[in-house]
Amino acid sequence: MSEEKPNPFKVVLKQLDIAAEKLNLDPGIHEILKQPKRALIVSVSIRMDNGNIRSFTGYRVQYHDARGPYKGGTRYHPDVTLDEVKALAALMTWKCAVVDIPYGGAKGGIACNPKEMSLVELERLTRRYTSMILDLIGPYRDIPASDVGTNPQIMAWITDTYSQFRGYSVPEIATGKPLIIGGSEGRADAPSRGVVLCTKEMVSKIGKRFKDMTVAVQGYGNVGASAAILLKKEGCKIIAVSDSRGGIYNPNGIDPIKVLKHKEKSGSVIGFEECKGITNEELLELECDILVPAALENQITKANADKIKAKIITEAANAPTTPEADEILSKKGIIVIPDILANAGGVLASYFEWLQNLHREHWSEEEFIKKLEYKMLEAFDDVYETSEKNEVDMRTAALMLGVGRVAEAIETLGLWP
Ligand code: GLU
Repeated sequence: MSEEKPNPFKVVLKQLDIAAEKLNLDPGIHEILKQPKRALIVSVSIRMDNGNIRSFTGYRVQYHDARGPYKGGTRYHPDVTLDEVKALAALMTWKCAVVDIPYGGAKGGIACNPKEMSLVELERLTRRYTSMILDLIGPYRDIPASDVGTNPQIMAWITDTYSQFRGYSVPEIATGKPLIIGGSEGRADAPSRGVVLCTKEMVSKIGKRFKDMTVAVQGYGNVGASAAILLKKEGCKIIAVSDSRGGIYNPNGIDPIKVLKHKEKSGSVIGFEECKGITNEELLELECDILVPAALENQITKANADKIKAKIITEAANAPTTPEADEILSKKGIIVIPDILANAGGVLASYFEWLQNLHREHWSEEEFIKKLEYKMLEAFDDVYETSEKNEVDMRTAALMLGVGRVAEAIETLGLWP
């Protein structure tokens, strides 16, 4: 896309303004919500495998904690900036409120390219970063998790570093951990399970049949690949998928499990059998029923919103759609299931993992999925009802619910001193 990418924090502030107006929000509370409560920038220096020292800029932003301890993932990506982390921290705050779990919102990140780093370099980076944000995090204070570019192993290193400093094992310090050290059954597929559930609910609300719907998925990482696999299991036809290197398209359907194996071997979805190569931009504009952006922010903007042909967009990624694009999509009658609802399965799963760790319990996958589906459905219904009642789109409804709950908590706690 040739146009300049919008600043992600400005996008989030615009969304906040829309919610504030609809809620008739107290101007003082609105003022409070326009900035994170705390933001830390660290310079993380490590020795690379070639013996050279390199410094990477890292962040931890704590947006608001009126509803409970800060919670949010850690992103490793070359484009990470303070404004991006602030935006994602704000979204976490609204998201935890939408699914009604007792957390505030935070986010962390390091500007680095994990794809070009060795395992040992990643371990050094993670451990030093953790030691530098140590005073900010804690199981009752701020609980990191995985996000784009991070994985269960990285969560294990965060957990171990924190535990080494404390002098005892603290599994409840991070979520998205491997099973063997207190991770949860069902955690890996939880975000995509939420994506599928919300999409299915929406399809039934508009009186359509879910089976045989055509789907395009942008992004084939943890969430995108798993969403494609689960959607296929539900009977949908996956016609296109992509990753950062490009996309593949076959109107007769693609087997998402085979694509995943191909990606694991070759490093990308491109070149997969019997498919036409397409760009990420072309994927977004395909004729399909359901579009799942599962990559990064600012993918659907005023430059391409008009060319989108999907009937439903389910935002597995955070902030893939700009407010200008939202307006265009809404005029075209395209339904957007917003990030802070659609991908909340991830943080819900984190909450369940944290509860198991705090209580030294281990739930079965069955129990986990039952609880996840219950909370996701409840949140979907809350957002849907808010949207019907106020005659607003699903994003505005989710923001009204999320921001409204955070605002009420701030008002109830009062402002000290
Ligand atoms: N990174 C995920 C998100 O953006 C999960 C965060 C968490 O579990 O704390 O929602």
